[in-house]
Amino acid sequence: MPLTPELQSIVDAFQNEKIVALLAPSFPVDFSYPEIIINLKMLGIQKVVELTYAAKLIDEEYEKILKANPDKQYICPNCPTIVMMINAKYPELKEYIINVASPMVVMNRFVKKEYGPDYKTIFIGPCLAKKMEAKHYDIDYAITFKELQDIFDYNKENNIAPKEFTYSVTEDGTPDFDKFYNDYTKVYPLAGGVATTIHIKGVVQKEQVIIADGPANLDAAFQEFKNNKNIRFLDILACEWWCIGGPGMMSKAPLEEKKQRVLAYKQYCRKDKIWSKFGKFEYAEGLDITR
Ligand code: SF4
Repeated sequence: MPLTPELQSIVDAFQNEKIVALLAPSFPVDFSYPEIIINLKMLGIQKVVELTYAAKLIDEEYEKILKANPDKQYICPNCPTIVMMINAKYPELKEYIINVASPMVVMNRFVKKEYGPDYKTIFIGPCLAKKMEAKHYDIDYAITFKELQDIFDYNKENNIAPKEFTYSVTEDGTPDFDKFYNDYTKVYPLAGGVATTIHIKGVVQKEQVIIADGPANLDAAFQEFKNNKNIRFLDILACEWWCIGGPGMMSKAPLEEKKQRVLAYKQYCRKDKIWSKFGKFEYAEGLDITR
């Protein structure tokens, strides 16, 4: 099957431009690690990074804001569908959206600072709404996991030769991401990914957090947030089953199986000792992480 014009132009960019892939943390549901890294590099992508370092930066900022403003309520804006819904249906809640950009946006800014202006970026994830967010925040390309698979299939069917590439390795020689961090934020695409990774113990109590997902539950979550001023934080994602239920995912596996794939990958990566050297906040000194 031919590629869509959008995908064809992206494949052409892989041949002619220097590109960094920003891979969403739900990737283990649809693709195997470390094969995904090699497969992306064979397309002509120079560097492949996870969003986990950006998630760590975001976590730190949330923690600071929540601690500094003990009487305020906040809504997490990581899901662009939620932001659109607030703008359209609950404009009175706009003021509660925390002023921190999403992991995709922060990671885009970070890699452009780190690798320089010659590099373009492509976000690859489970989300259609991220395509609009990507345009708004100068991410050069955005595709879904399904679309990435279409590109892999097209190249295979048409015997397109892989590009030459280099890749990073872990201490045991396994192909690795061109990474900056490897830790707990790999659970971001799961329920309450933000609420469970920000260090707000003693600042926000469990009963002051609402974790919600899925079209059937969004209105009730917004109403509860509005009515109960004791709620400090609304961690909300539009898709049923969070980002691992996003429309751009391929897997039709049951929820528990998808979830286990993300958790198993997180567990697997703990063996990678190299990570202890990464993830310092000073790497991102001066980086704008506001929305
Ligand atoms: S919950 Fe769905 S719409 Fe929201 S960011 Fe995740 S995949 Fe995108």
